[in-house]
Amino acid sequence: MNQVRKVYMDYAATTPVDHAVLEAMLPFFEKTFGNPSSTHAYAREVRPAIDEARAHVAALCNANANEIYFTAGGTESDNWALKGVALAYPEKRHIITSQIEHHAILHTCEDLEKLGREVTYLPVTPEGIVTPESVEAAIRPDTALVSVMFANNEVGTVQPVQAIGEVCHAHGIPFHTDAVQAFGVLPIDVKTMPIDYMSMSAHKLYGPKGIGALYVRKFAGLLPLLAGGGQERGKRSGTENVPGIVGFGKAAQIAKRKMQEETARLTSLRDDMIQAIERDIPQVKLNGSRVNRLPNNVNMTFRYAPNESVLLMLDMNGVAASGGSACSAGATEPSHVLLAMGASTEDAQASIRFTLGRDTTQEDISYVVEKLQTIVARQRALQPLFAQTAEAPKFV
Ligand code: PLP
Repeated sequence: MNQVRKVYMDYAATTPVDHAVLEAMLPFFEKTFGNPSSTHAYAREVRPAIDEARAHVAALCNANANEIYFTAGGTESDNWALKGVALAYPEKRHIITSQIEHHAILHTCEDLEKLGREVTYLPVTPEGIVTPESVEAAIRPDTALVSVMFANNEVGTVQPVQAIGEVCHAHGIPFHTDAVQAFGVLPIDVKTMPIDYMSMSAHKLYGPKGIGALYVRKFAGLLPLLAGGGQERGKRSGTENVPGIVGFGKAAQIAKRKMQEETARLTSLRDDMIQAIERDIPQVKLNGSRVNRLPNNVNMTFRYAPNESVLLMLDMNGVAASGGSACSAGATEPSHVLLAMGASTEDAQASIRFTLGRDTTQEDISYVVEKLQTIVARQRALQPLFAQTAEAPKFV
């Protein structure tokens, strides 16, 4: 039987757990299983491991360990930052965010609107950038929080976080950033950057799923969402996910060590892939910024080739990629991010995100581009609209 090559290009959706991370976690399922809140030796065995993990997560963004609160992932961290600030400052009824945020932010904002808050959803440039000027123009006396993501999960644009945070602080407004796609990939220093709250998630950096963290700058106001046993210094109740926390710590430690080299390697692979697609396939467009872009993100529109069909064919050829955001993949809705960037519905539905990672090789890139050439041509040939379009390129 013909073995189909398997190429995973959906690292923005999730990453495999690093073997060293798995090894670090394993003892905490069976041998060292104590509840950290207990008063006996079993708890004393576990607590140092949590402290160590917290220190590693903090070190990856130059935070103090006591500014890191473990959560169940990026979604919880996003919910907590927005709802926790809204609860802490009930008289401030306005929130500013952008149209290209992850649904963990957008749907939380919708919840807050139902509770009587007002939300400004900032537009973006055609490259998918939120400008600091637009943030400043939206600020009101009753603005409680500005939340703009560090890097976009679909098109990979890296936002001008420094400048946006500076605008916020100049007006005395706290700034939250969803750094789920950037943490462990880009250098982040919360001591020098004007960030008050920051969301992180372990499964995007070769850690386990279901564990994340929220960075909360010292003295930044935030009420807990979960009431209970008072874990995480009274801010996030619930028995700690000890293996998850240990895994996150290990993943952060590894990411810190590998970041520079891996960024250089991925940036080069990413640019090779973009170049090869632009060279070998007509009627394509790179979505997002060429410059301010995550090192592992390739998001392209293959005009007149519906992404659902292309993704299906890629899958049949062993290639895993994505049509929309990590967490809404499978949905046929056009991407809200591409629409906000000015794409037509047709183009949004002809766009595919490839995200590269630690196991991606040059051979993977060549294989995917070669498959894409055939698949896209075949799909286009099936499209009546394409056949009738004067600008349609010739296929041989
Ligand atoms: N924010 C961004 C930008 C993401 O990409 C994701 C996941 O894809 C999330 C939040 C949600 O994180 P989690 O899967 O840990 O809940």
